[in-house]
Amino acid sequence: MKNEENNYGYMHRELERLEAEGNLRRLPRLTHEGRYVTADGRRMLNLSSNDYLGLAADTDLRSEFLDTLTPEMFVPSSSSSRLLTGNFPVYEELEAELARLYGKEAALVFNCGYHANTGILPAVADADTLILADKLIHASLIDGLKLGTARYLRYRHNDLKHLERMLHEYAPTRKRTIIVTESIFSMDGDEAPLRQLAALKQRYPGTLLYVDEAHAFGVRGQHGLGCAEEQGVTKDIDFLMGTFGKALGSEGAFVVCSRTAREYLVNRMRPFIFTTALPPVSVTWTLFVLRRLTRMEKRRKRLVALSTRVHQALHTAGMPDLSSSHILPIMVGDSADTILKAEALQRHGFYVLPVRPPTVPAGTSRLRLSLRADLTNEEMDSLIKHLQAL
Ligand code: PMP
Repeated sequence: MKNEENNYGYMHRELERLEAEGNLRRLPRLTHEGRYVTADGRRMLNLSSNDYLGLAADTDLRSEFLDTLTPEMFVPSSSSSRLLTGNFPVYEELEAELARLYGKEAALVFNCGYHANTGILPAVADADTLILADKLIHASLIDGLKLGTARYLRYRHNDLKHLERMLHEYAPTRKRTIIVTESIFSMDGDEAPLRQLAALKQRYPGTLLYVDEAHAFGVRGQHGLGCAEEQGVTKDIDFLMGTFGKALGSEGAFVVCSRTAREYLVNRMRPFIFTTALPPVSVTWTLFVLRRLTRMEKRRKRLVALSTRVHQALHTAGMPDLSSSHILPIMVGDSADTILKAEALQRHGFYVLPVRPPTVPAGTSRLRLSLRADLTNEEMDSLIKHLQAL
């Protein structure tokens, strides 16, 4: 008993504190059926996943893929790091396709976005590098900053004047500077001004640009390549990172970059080197979807139309809404209140979850809805009605 108190007492106390604040998290018990999840016997439309185009829920697409598979192609494990025996040809096919689509020299695939963001920055940013990062970047990028040896500073969210002041003051003291941002911000659904960031980079030689397109890849741009494609700045981005676990309906992540940067990452990036590569069958699925993604403008347009309708309805109802995308945060503030509002939407059949600290800053707890292209008009109208009644 005494040992239990010594070894775990601090954990119990921390868990009690989280519970009292309304910030204790538990793994939800869910069953899945396409666009729906069932929890506590209630079947609800899933508005909390990142399946923005409805591809992960699309059984026709899955059937088409399964028809192409043979037992020889269904390789469930790479059984090794890519640097040892895990480098199956399908990886390089996927990377060649990504590089071609983006018009870049090279691409490198990772097991997930968390690996990409915690691995690329510590590898490429040495003690002579300064990193200037947006205040609201994702936790994986923050961990990437903390794991490295480079000095880093955070500029106010999307505040180009603040960023330029930092560039002006600090960049001349370092050999290189890396600006780090997301394109669509994961928790706020607003967007970085990529064109202006690219212009700023040009004005300060020795500056590189790192953009996380996790929430825009598949969704934005004529071919679904993200906000950089939409804003015509793909060529200005040195490290353009995206993930396959969201709109693409798969798993894993990638960066498109220069040939030199790719080779450097292969030699220096720890979450690339010291891990078993993704299952080849999963990479085959990613490539199968990617080859169709460029022609999915109908789904992309549907998502834009739906998102515009919901934004307009919230504005009309006088509800604060700073998002410009399919990610819709409804600010509540207090965590316990946010939980109650999420439960109200769940009772009406919409699986919406509260987002609380530490995912977002204290006092900014919110509901976070991910709109999806496969939402029907009736579902959208019903959602709007219940959001306005919150
Ligand atoms: N970047 C952003 C902006 C994200 O939102 C996430 C995951 N939610 C990641 C990276 C991590 O990607 P993954 O889930 O593939 O690890």
